[in-house]
Amino acid sequence: MGRKPKIQHCRNFAPSTEEINYLINNTETFRYKVMLILLWHNMREGEVAHMQSSWVHINDAKSKHEGANYINIPNQSILCSCWDCTLQWFLEFQQHRHTKKHSSKWFQKKQKKFYRLKEEFNENIKELIKKKIKAHPEKKISDKWFNQKLFKFFDDKGYNDKKFITLDEYQWRPKTKAGARYIWLLDDEQANFIKEFFETNKTIGMNRRQIYARVKKLGLKYLKKKLFPHAIRSASAIKLAYSGISEASVNTMMGWETNQAKSYVNSNSKLALVDLKNKMKNQ
Ligand SMILES: [Zn+2]
Repeated sequence: MGRKPKIQHCRNFAPSTEEINYLINNTETFRYKVMLILLWHNMREGEVAHMQSSWVHINDAKSKHEGANYINIPNQSILCSCWDCTLQWFLEFQQHRHTKKHSSKWFQKKQKKFYRLKEEFNENIKELIKKKIKAHPEKKISDKWFNQKLFKFFDDKGYNDKKFITLDEYQWRPKTKAGARYIWLLDDEQANFIKEFFETNKTIGMNRRQIYARVKKLGLKYLKKKLFPHAIRSASAIKLAYSGISEASVNTMMGWETNQAKSYVNSNSKLALVDLKNKMKNQ
């Protein structure tokens, strides 16, 4: 039997700038086009999924003050009831209970447990929503209402302990402190797409899983290859790393806490050749 292949780093799957441009230009559905543009601007899929229209500063007083259009990923949390945030909440809650460090096996086990609970809750919540709509057809299903039901569900299952976690903590926030940052939008055409979209939409309207699935579909359709949101982010990291700006700026723009820019510069032989040729030309 052959040996297990080594896990490949995402940057090895990174599409080229030409491929990304082709993909963005050919994607017709407005929502998906904007999703691709955001990923191409170094945003993580979780950031795109949780992006709020209030983060957008295009041709407004703030962007004029800064001297460029931008998206501001703030440090504040937002109340969110999507399954990624719920899972995070579940894991954090479990971690609080047992303070010792956890192995990846522990996380896998907890994740499995969570998905079993999720199935159960899904069935549960469908019934509850039906009942609510029947009793109060005029009322909307709010995040708060949803969260309350979720908390009750976890309570009943013995997974909620108000001593450790409160409703306020059940929120989305950037992955790391460095994740809170400005996304500069220097391409006017792409900035206008973003502006137009978020004038009528409060969010992108897709969760992380939907973004992942859509990117994969679009990649197969237009580029005839496997594509992942992270590969688009990797491509933009490579582009930044070779643009000649400092490693510190690349790290800031990507939202990296450590100097990951260095590994990107060291990672790509083809781009190293382009770099080399450019440098030789100038000598
Ligand atoms: Zn969420």
